[in-house]
Amino acid sequence: MTTQNELFEKSKDLVPGGVHSPVRSFKGLHTTPRFIKKAHGAFIEDVDGKDYIDFCMSFGPLVLGHKDSDVEKSLVDALSRGWSYGTCEPYSLDLASFLLSKIDFVDQIRFVNSGTEAVMTALRLARGATKKDKIIKFNGCYHGHTDSMLIKAGSGLAGTSEASSAGVPEGISKDTLILELGNTEEVIQCFKDHPGEIAAIIIEPLPANNGLLIQEKSFLEFLRKITKDNDALLIFDEVISGFRVAFGGMAELTGITPDIVTYGKIIGGGLPVGAIAAKKEIMDNLAPVGSVYQAGTLSANPLAMVGGLETLKKMTPKAYEEINANTTKIINVFNKWLKEYNDGEFSHYSLTSHSSLFWIVAAEGVNCMDKIPADITEKFNPLFETLLEKGIYLSPNAYEVGFVSLAHNDEVIGELEKRLWN
Ligand SMILES: *Cc1c(COP(=O)(O)O)cnc(C)c1O
Repeated sequence: MTTQNELFEKSKDLVPGGVHSPVRSFKGLHTTPRFIKKAHGAFIEDVDGKDYIDFCMSFGPLVLGHKDSDVEKSLVDALSRGWSYGTCEPYSLDLASFLLSKIDFVDQIRFVNSGTEAVMTALRLARGATKKDKIIKFNGCYHGHTDSMLIKAGSGLAGTSEASSAGVPEGISKDTLILELGNTEEVIQCFKDHPGEIAAIIIEPLPANNGLLIQEKSFLEFLRKITKDNDALLIFDEVISGFRVAFGGMAELTGITPDIVTYGKIIGGGLPVGAIAAKKEIMDNLAPVGSVYQAGTLSANPLAMVGGLETLKKMTPKAYEEINANTTKIINVFNKWLKEYNDGEFSHYSLTSHSSLFWIVAAEGVNCMDKIPADITEKFNPLFETLLEKGIYLSPNAYEVGFVSLAHNDEVIGELEKRLWN
């Protein structure tokens, strides 16, 4: 078989930067992306035959581990029936009724193909329902790559914003207001500065895309109250946290009810799915009932629906206990090794974690972008390369979190210890 390095050379010719999503690119690292041939449980194997304990897990969806046998069986069954119908089918109803029976603050759900699509629809829905244009977004939260979410705080006056990507028109960036996580004063001021103009606040209730920036529950409660008081909607983007921190995500864990919730990642169990859910009176704004347009050729694809359902059925309360307990053990192992390795070469690191997510960072108490050390990438890269060499695969970027799955059991943790101290 072609080797890794040959594949990467070929890939760079065919695809920009050799990758289909920039976070896969190993930019700044002294090595090239691994080309994965196959995967099973907690392990991925590259085309050169080296295997790795995987803590990236496709950036979150694979909560059961790779190639779970029950999911595999249901996918093979589904495949034997056909893989796209472009009309109504029963499989999305199975998934919808399963979800809606367990998540009691929403009445209806619509399936799309990615987290980005879910957010894009949620924002249009919020604007359509409130007849207002402006959206508050927090610095450090990621909501996919739709134009209006690729916005950062402006470098000029306070309260201004500008695009964080080329190709996003100024006309779009002006309607996204960027504020700092945890700063209630800024939110209050923003509502004062834009009376009657703010359609919604969108937040990752557990920000996990620029490190793990855990927020106080009181901050989320404050956002719930100020949106209600100002006839604005609260959108929880639970694309990572949904079905991860608890079945009903951060909304269930905190008891705080958003007006609209977006899901992705785990909801498809590793197949391309996203979803928007809300009370019926809000969902009624979507076409064909209402005037907010949204559509998708492959939406509610039968394979993806079946894969998602089979994955979510296995996320019982006991499964959450198990995955969280596995994570605690893994964190203890990493922390011990970080202190001991090579006379303390990595002893400045510690792990921040929440449920089955962890973040390795050389600082403590980081809960907003301002507190992330400037040299985080420089410091992370040698650690990543050392672990890769030992057969341990983290997400290849200092700002990405680690994902634990149910497949990261005691046997895998034993293997992790062996590889770390080897
Ligand atoms: C991953 C992610 C998205 C984007 O989802 P894609 O499926 O990559 O488009 C949006 N919001 C959050 C919170 C995410 O973690």
